[in-house]
Amino acid sequence: MTTLRYPHLLEPLDLGFMTLKNRVIMGSMHTGLEEEKNGYERMAAYFAERAKGQVGLIVTGGIAPNRQGWTAPFTSKMTSKREARKHKIITKAVHENEGKICMQLLHAGRYGYHPLAVAPSAIKSPISPFKPWKLSNRGIHRTIRHFVRAAKLAKYANYDGVEIMGSEGYLLNEFVSAKTNKRTDKWGGSFENRIQFPLEIIRKTREAVGENFILIFRLSMLDLVEEGNTWEETVFFAKEIEKAGATLINTGIGWHEARIPTIATMVPRGGFSWVTQKMMNEINIPLITTNRINTPEKAEEILANGHAHMVSMARPFLADPEIIRKAIENREDEINTCIGCNQACLDHVFKQKTASCLVNPRACHETILTYTPTDSPKKIAVVGAGPAGLSAATVAAQRGHQVTLFEAQKEIGGQFNIAKLIPGKEEFYETLRYFRRQLELHSVQLILNHKATAKELLAYDEVIIATGIKPRSISLEGMNNHTVMDYEDVLKHNKPVGKNVVIIGAGGIGFDVAEFLSHEGESPSLNPKLFLKEWGIDPTNSSRGGLIAPAPHPSPRKITMLQRSETKVGKDLGKTTGWIHRQSLKMKQVSMINGVTYDRIDDKGIHFTVNNEPHFVQADTIVVCAGQVSVNHLYEEMIASGKSAHLIGGGKLAKKIDAQRAIKEGSILGAKL
Ligand code: FAD
Ligand code: SF4
Repeated sequence: MTTLRYPHLLEPLDLGFMTLKNRVIMGSMHTGLEEEKNGYERMAAYFAERAKGQVGLIVTGGIAPNRQGWTAPFTSKMTSKREARKHKIITKAVHENEGKICMQLLHAGRYGYHPLAVAPSAIKSPISPFKPWKLSNRGIHRTIRHFVRAAKLAKYANYDGVEIMGSEGYLLNEFVSAKTNKRTDKWGGSFENRIQFPLEIIRKTREAVGENFILIFRLSMLDLVEEGNTWEETVFFAKEIEKAGATLINTGIGWHEARIPTIATMVPRGGFSWVTQKMMNEINIPLITTNRINTPEKAEEILANGHAHMVSMARPFLADPEIIRKAIENREDEINTCIGCNQACLDHVFKQKTASCLVNPRACHETILTYTPTDSPKKIAVVGAGPAGLSAATVAAQRGHQVTLFEAQKEIGGQFNIAKLIPGKEEFYETLRYFRRQLELHSVQLILNHKATAKELLAYDEVIIATGIKPRSISLEGMNNHTVMDYEDVLKHNKPVGKNVVIIGAGGIGFDVAEFLSHEGESPSLNPKLFLKEWGIDPTNSSRGGLIAPAPHPSPRKITMLQRSETKVGKDLGKTTGWIHRQSLKMKQVSMINGVTYDRIDDKGIHFTVNNEPHFVQADTIVVCAGQVSVNHLYEEMIASGKSAHLIGGGKLAKKIDAQRAIKEGSILGAKL
């Protein structure tokens, strides 16, 4: 069934020698599968599911043209036919599903996390401990040859094209920018000289692969770093890229070292498509826009408004391989929406772990975690409709079990109902919408406002206890003072909070409470103008690098965060998002103190010791965010009465519980019962 709901999104794109079935590219993502055992088989299954899901064009994760271009030691490279042959299983799987796939060629330059890293000049990046070697003139020519060789090998491996990574602060971008290119030879100096290296790569690649092969160039259109390029320079470069033989230009937003969020959940949906729009009438080849486009509605709006010819979505294809098929079939309410959390995708990759997805643990595990229909349907009771219970119930029901889900509250969601209230976490509403629809689709019997008892659970073949967590209280003199509350009092029970606030505990929830209490008015993640202003992004992109002074809305409260541990405050937050939370609160003048020993609370505030020095902070509200404890008495009751049950999520282990673990545990159990 076709639809008129997304006429722009679903319109084919004729490239002259090949037609793409719609305007959606699955953007490049490193998943770590390349380095896994049976990695190529797993990648084939992973990409095949996305091709089957009707995406117009897939781009693989970045593959280095040589060893110097590795992102980290022994990551994948394309330097020989032997290496290329391993890719044939991927291209075959995609083509069998009527998809198209390009290989991304990425040279990490000075971001390479290894001692062989090279760059136009020997300038260390702030995000890698390795100082790069300066490429010699011969080295530059050799690197160009290596790019060309890799593109030819990609063609040999039956890819439909290549994407040459020229943005995000990697090698090609480093040549283009005066910030990182201090050369005085013909590859440095003037802007015209600095763009010659990437242009030469495009020209020579086009010559080598012929006309009927897609060549995408990913161009940094907004550097978001000091000494970045001007818009005039970027337009000039884009015109030269077109002349050099590119088929499509993709948009790059922000270098990796930029201190501005570009894809995390607090970035408004499609918050950077205006940058591509500026380029729309400057060149004649199609333009792709990107960053935080996670729904077909947003993608359609962007295309209908003339911001680009195509949209690139990357993480949304981890969350739901069928996002496009569901849009085609008007089943948008069934889409498992990417919430932009980075927790299981980017954060994993940065920790050298295989990527996955918080809302879809099958992502990159397609051959390992399968939801096969059961041949012996059972009566299953699930207690608790938080993320753990929801995933267990929906996966088990999807497989054909008869599932009843008990929830004590009036709505499903558990702690997600609190998390969704934090400014910048509005996407959590989508996960709840998804689960609500899955419960309906798979006929799960949902019993709300009902605290399940051990007795009623005796009637089921299997019982899953997912009763979650509750705030942990601490023992401290003055804890009964009227000023003291926990995070649920603030977020769930809406207790009034004063102007001077102390937060005890600076973990994820402490940070979220600080974010909540330091905001006033509309959330910048829902208003692109506010977002640009808050983070100092020039909305006209006319200043160098696109930077202006940040102007966040001031906090309506004076907030102090206290932490017992002596480690840096926020150290355990997500690898790729922790810095954003820290910076956001610093911009709001939130104080953060570590190495604290709490002494007592009184009517005026809190007394504590740091480095043997007594301290006092005045507070009219003290919010305790000191971790959580499991709610598992129902499970214990069942076991005591001799009935077996499965315990999952926060109810099993409160320490470091997050939705990623909760959903994964629920899905794995739901898949095997
Ligand atoms: P819960 O979410 O606690 O759900 C348990 C459910 O069981 C509840 O709905 C409860 O009412 C129900 N229940 C209990 N007993 C019974 C009974 N006897 N009968 C029926 N029902 C019962 N995690 C992330 O990964 N990323 C984030 O960005 C993130 N942000 C957060 C922000 C905040 C402010 C908070 C509070 C949490 C956040 N979390 C985040 C944590 C995440 O929400 C939890 O880890 C997750 O909800 C735990 O899932 P769960 O299903 O184990 O438990
Ligand atoms: Fe999106 Fe989070 Fe899944 Fe990554 S882990 S794909 S950001 S939902």
